[in-house]
This record gives sequence, C-alpha cells and structure tokens, in this order.
Amino acid sequence: MSKPMIYADNAATTKLDPEAFESMKPWLLEEYGNASQPYSFARKPKKALAEARATIAACINALPEEIFFTSGGTESDNWAIKGSAFSDSEHRATITSAFEHHAILRSCAAIERLGYPVAYLSPTPDGQITPENLASVITDKTRLVSIMFANNEIGSIQPIKELCKVAHAHGALFHTDAVQAVGHLEIDVKDLGIDMLSASAHKFNGPKGIGFLYIRKGVAISSYADGGAQEGNRRAGTENIASIVGMATALKGNCNLIEHNRTNILKLEKQLLQGLNESGVEYIRNGGSNTLPGLISISFPNMDGEAILHRLDLQGIVVSTGAACDSVNTIISHVLQSINLPEEAAIGTIRISIGKYNSLTDIDAIIASINKERVQ
Ligand code: PLP
Repeated sequence: MSKPMIYADNAATTKLDPEAFESMKPWLLEEYGNASQPYSFARKPKKALAEARATIAACINALPEEIFFTSGGTESDNWAIKGSAFSDSEHRATITSAFEHHAILRSCAAIERLGYPVAYLSPTPDGQITPENLASVITDKTRLVSIMFANNEIGSIQPIKELCKVAHAHGALFHTDAVQAVGHLEIDVKDLGIDMLSASAHKFNGPKGIGFLYIRKGVAISSYADGGAQEGNRRAGTENIASIVGMATALKGNCNLIEHNRTNILKLEKQLLQGLNESGVEYIRNGGSNTLPGLISISFPNMDGEAILHRLDLQGIVVSTGAACDSVNTIISHVLQSINLPEEAAIGTIRISIGKYNSLTDIDAIIASINKERVQ
C-alpha cells in the first residue's frame, strides 16, 4: 500500500473545506438559475450572491458593495494595477515592491509599456518594505502604492497600516495583494486604511478560480470587463454562484477559527524548527521574525532545494522550492534575489507551508525525510 500523502504546500493551494463543498452543490445541481434574470427561479441565486457578499465583507470589515467577485488573485491584482492606471489621465506613478507576485509585477510591466511609470521598492534582507523606504520614493505625483500583505515565498508580513499612512499623506491610493493573508490573519480594511485588497479563495480552503477585489467606496478605478451589469457594472460576466458561495463558507469558517488555527499551526512550526535544530543541520530561516503562521522558507547552504523537493516527493511529502535548475542555469526566484540571499543558500531553499489539516505526525515525517536527504 502506498504511503499517505503529506501535503505541506498550503501557500500554493489548500484543500477545499468539506463545508464549503457542501454549500456549493445546490447551486450547481438544482438552483442553477442566472442571478440576473427577473423570474422567480433567479431569486434564490440572487439572494445567495447577496448573502455571500455580505459574509465576505464582514470578514474584513468592509461594506458588501465594496466586494467585487473576480476569478481569483491574478485577476484582482490585474484589475487593481491596470484599473488604477487607466483611470488616471495624468499618467501618475505606481509604486510597488520588487518581491510581489508576478500577477502584480507583470501587470506593472504592462502599464509601463503603455507609458505609465512604475517604481519598485527593494525589501530589507528580512523581507520588509519599510515606511521609510516608501517615504523616500513617493511624491505627490504617485497615483497608487501596491504592497503585498505577506510574501508568498518567505512569509514576511508587511507594516500595512504604516505604509497606508505614507501613501495617503501624498494623496495616493493603497492596494494590497492579501492573497496569502486573507483567512489566516485578522484583517480590518477600515482600521488599516486599505483602499483596495486582492484575495483568492483557494488559499483559504475555498474553491479554485474565484476571488474578490475589495474596492473602498469612492475609489475610482476603471472597470475590469465590459459587458453585462454584474458587479456594479465594473466586472461583467454571469456570476459563478456555486464558487462564490463556497468561497464565503470557507472564509467565514477560517475567520471564525483564525486564533485556534494560528495556535495549532505555530505549534507545528515550532516542532519543525526544533526538529531541524536537534538534527544539527545547518539552515537559514528566511523572512525575518514576523511571518505568516506555518510558512517556513528555509535555505540549506550548499544543498540543492530541487533535489530535496524531489526526494521528499518520492516519500509522498509535498513542499515547494525557491530555485529551479534547467540543464544549463539555476533560476533563483525573484523573491530570494530581492532579499539578497547568497546564491549557495538560495539554491538550497525549500518552502514548507503548514496548514490547518497538518498534524504533528506530518511534521515528524518531514523532519525525518529532510535528515535522510541530508545524509544521502
Ligand atoms: N498573489 C499572491 C501573493 C499569490 O500567492 C498568488 C498565488 O500563488 C496570487 C496572487 C495568484 O492568485 P490566483 O492563483 O488566485 O490567481
């Protein structure tokens, strides 16, 4: 019998919660009406849509009308960056960071090609974008600042409230790619001062291919898709009710248990690091001291992260890496490059991301496998 899989790549995607799955079914099989239609068969999906919007809004302290459903994090990021630029006839600048997800970086490259200026802030070696760094670059000609809530490779959590203050002091809007943070950290968009926030359901035990963009009331950005009147005329297309309902169920479930999940996940994280320390293996933990619970980026100097990944894979353990080699080159991720991790450490980097479905037994198996890989 093959060994059960140990899934420790929760920053890549998460397992769908059974409750979320159950909540989706009726909207696929029975109540499949189009929410935009005027007849009574559309009433239930329309109500479900409104309820899901309200549930999601409550999880981040937004208003329901500030939640816009999208196909996920990538679309939300594209919309925030391009929508902001395209609605600005003065072509004012966008500021982002060098270690954003490619959904942000490539959207920024796209607006640059069209003549909208973009500046890229470098993180500290601990993976922080500091308010001082932002203050040194921002001007009154900045339209948008977009800094991720927490980095997806090294987990470092950013000082969002302080960064928002700097942006607002110069009349700029503040967007955050919170794809890794929503459902895992408490987020109050009003208290933090966020103008736009991207989220993706499959990172918080919801279904894939669905997400949302929070757009604070009064923020003027251009529409994402033209067509029907869905999403307040800003993102046309028949709503994916089942996925939207599944996302709301998953987010509510996670938000109700944030503290409980964090405590458990941090226990597992401690166990993992203790196990590595006891084994005497040399490693560097990336991302500084304020990281997402369970997201552990570790570099083993002079080891090969890709080889570790494949060996763990053979033992049924799923993790991720920070550098990939082809037959000629080693490509170190832009995130590890941005924190100036020396090449010999970057090559030996793996990302273990623990989720709420992991157990102490999983952690022990991961430690044992890393040790086995080391002595081979
Ligand atoms: N932003 C961050 C920080 C991510 O980690 C990801 C997914 O890996 C995305 C955006 C893209 O989200 P999606 O997969 O929903 O398009």
